[in-house]
Amino acid sequence: MSTYNFSAGPAVMPKPVIAQIQAELPSFQGSEMSIMEISHRSQLFDQVINEAEADLRDLMQIPDNYRVLFFQGGGTLQFTAAPLNLATKHHHIGLLDSGHWASRAAEEARRVNTQVDILGTAAPTHFTTLPRLNKPVDQTLDYVHITTNNTIEGTAYTALPETGQVPLVADMSSNFLGQVYNVNDFGMIFAGAQKNLGPAGLTIVIVRDDLIGHAKQLPSMLDYQLFADKRSMFNTPPVFAIYAAGLVLKWLKAQGGLNVIEQRNRVKANLLYDFLDQSTLFNCQVKPADRSLMNVPFVTGNPDLDAQVIAGATKHGLLNLKGHRLVGGMRASLYNAMPLAGVQALVDYLAAFEADHA
Ligand code: PMP
Repeated sequence: MSTYNFSAGPAVMPKPVIAQIQAELPSFQGSEMSIMEISHRSQLFDQVINEAEADLRDLMQIPDNYRVLFFQGGGTLQFTAAPLNLATKHHHIGLLDSGHWASRAAEEARRVNTQVDILGTAAPTHFTTLPRLNKPVDQTLDYVHITTNNTIEGTAYTALPETGQVPLVADMSSNFLGQVYNVNDFGMIFAGAQKNLGPAGLTIVIVRDDLIGHAKQLPSMLDYQLFADKRSMFNTPPVFAIYAAGLVLKWLKAQGGLNVIEQRNRVKANLLYDFLDQSTLFNCQVKPADRSLMNVPFVTGNPDLDAQVIAGATKHGLLNLKGHRLVGGMRASLYNAMPLAGVQALVDYLAAFEADHA
């Protein structure tokens, strides 16, 4: 029996990457040391981090006037770092309230004395739709924060909100590299690695260079300009996580790049959504136009039956389908490394479950 991991994160990684890590672990590039043992100041690691950055730039077509920074601290630290670095003129940002992670971002920005205006909220639909701007964006805001993919609620932006001259800051944690975005549309993008990029412990920041360097006296570990100047090696970076992410980036290139990946992700997601939409037992409550390619929440409407679905799935090798505690039900995360066969196995299982419970 094959097993498939539908976890929302840390999440499935490409099997060839895991195999390569295993093969290279005892001796990285003939050094007789594992990647976990080499110095971040060594030539060996220099090559790892430089290639990771170059491959990411290539995949996302990141323009030269954007800096790529490697942080620790997860997406959560960027909820603090983004306002500290970018909200330096007015200490005032806008935010689209698309769910849990957007609220967390607002909360952390307020903790560092940034005024946060909610420019639209999806609360009235219980976050089954994306929020839209409720009026034109005040052009004196330092930036507007959006969550491109809402991991818990299962919504995602394809068309972006129109913010005029105000930069868009995107928490792309859960659909980074999963669909194509134009980096030029953003002032900054950040993403924790542990969904689509690699192991936890690494966070990518992509930021337009004119937006940084304006903050005074930031803690060093939160200072984008310092990280840019020190090529993300102000202190010891997460060496293993950067190495593993680098292998995933090479795997993505070998698959044909992000256009190919997005197409595949559409096929995978549609297979599941189409099943759910015709099902008389299962239901995905997210409005079709706002649905995520990465995270698919669904319910039967009966928590006891949901628990049976999840337990039965586990027996069939379909792992980690329990929905987030805030919304209950089931959630299937279909990140880049989830093969179509995994989604087909899930649909087959759900169809059989439905037939048994008709
Ligand atoms: N933003 C989004 C969209 C997320 O899904 C998550 C984690 N699930 C976070 C932020 C927080 O990430 P971390 O745990 O890496 O701090």
